[in-house]
Amino acid sequence: MDEYFDALPGLFMRNIPTFANSNSKGLISEEGFMKIFKFGGASVNSVERIRNVGEIIQSYKGEKLLVVISAMGKTTNALEKVTEAFFSQKLEEALSLFAKVKQQHLETARQLLTDSLPACEQQLKEFFTEAEWLLHDSPVREYDYYYDQVVCIGELLSTALVSHYLNSIGIANQWMDVRDIIRTDDNFRDAGIDWTYTQSKVNEVIIPSFSVTNIILTQGFIGATDENESTTLGREGSDYSAAVFANMMDAVSQTIWKDVESVMNADPKEFADVQPIHELNYNEVIEMAYYGAQVIHPKTIKPLQNKGIPLYVKCFLQPSLEGTVIHGKSLKQLPPIIVLKQNQVMIEMSSRDFSFVGEHHVSHLYSLFEKLKVKPNLTQNGAISFLCVMDDHTDRIEKLALEASSLFDVKVLKGLSLLTIRHYDTTILEKMVNAKSILLRQQTPETIQVLMTSVTK
Ligand code: ASP
Ligand code: MG
Repeated sequence: MDEYFDALPGLFMRNIPTFANSNSKGLISEEGFMKIFKFGGASVNSVERIRNVGEIIQSYKGEKLLVVISAMGKTTNALEKVTEAFFSQKLEEALSLFAKVKQQHLETARQLLTDSLPACEQQLKEFFTEAEWLLHDSPVREYDYYYDQVVCIGELLSTALVSHYLNSIGIANQWMDVRDIIRTDDNFRDAGIDWTYTQSKVNEVIIPSFSVTNIILTQGFIGATDENESTTLGREGSDYSAAVFANMMDAVSQTIWKDVESVMNADPKEFADVQPIHELNYNEVIEMAYYGAQVIHPKTIKPLQNKGIPLYVKCFLQPSLEGTVIHGKSLKQLPPIIVLKQNQVMIEMSSRDFSFVGEHHVSHLYSLFEKLKVKPNLTQNGAISFLCVMDDHTDRIEKLALEASSLFDVKVLKGLSLLTIRHYDTTILEKMVNAKSILLRQQTPETIQVLMTSVTK
């Protein structure tokens, strides 16, 4: 998650409005007054960082929080390697890679805990056993199934650890295995949520638990099928899990705690003068994501948008910073938002006999895109030619060119950059674009897209 976000045009935040300590029923802890927090892997990747999470949660004393935590640091990647080794029948390697993951968690537990260490170790060991039991078998099912059974352990370990730690410093919380709540189909690695069943579990299990605890701590990214097989929701899925809970619990807000100051108007790794954006709306985030900004996935936005729940992005390293709020209100005066996509390919398809490239051709091309799983980032239709710009997935581009060549003359141009600026003006445009290098330009009053041979930063 953090890699995802760090790549960002950082998006960010404003102080969480105190949504009052009274609702229409005049009660603090009624349903609808819960907040959802999500802490990513980077926020729990060391003993100090876990203590820091404790301090943040402590500062919300008295509030009802559902806290979703990712696997520690790069654990998900490490568990992917374990699965790969297992699936290629390298048992020794799989076990030794897994031993490293175990070691890391046990070590962290020892550094954080004293009295409750045995209980925590016991719980961690149950999850170790769950994975090892499977690793000792030979693979007979598909890769994705094993992936989910192994990779889900990362979030179970991190949340068990953090839960014991918080309880040990007086932050009473209840740990939950989210696989008892989030029911999914068996589309392993990209499982779809059964909303009806999951909602009933939220109503029966989660909401009543808030009458005995202020804090529920659970996993993002994972779920289970009706046959109790573990599933995952796709990499970076815990923001989405948090949003699903926010939606189902009618939460007052969702906060994603990141290691960035706020959402920015451009990727700080690409551009020098980036500025923070403290307020955004759902539409803008979806537009940004569409043009390729690594912000918040539209999948996460939808459950929040449907219930009008604000999403805060806050910095766990400096919680007093304003961060960013994303809501459903309309906004005036957004700064220019800049998204640069490198490694773009332009494909030009022209009719051979000078016939128009009409609906018939275009619909044929779109079915090719669908079949080959390529997504054009920009298209332009002229009288006798059709242009499209896409990411350089070489194998797919080759197939596309080959298939299209039965109907058209095909030209492929590689090594291009696609610059998108929302809320642009002439100053920013001139600053960013060298007129000579422009191959294609498309604009609406809100958004301009420019395809270039080289990029001026
Ligand atoms: N741990 C998972 C991942 O790294 C899910 C998440 O952090 O959102 O993809
Ligand atoms: Mg992560």
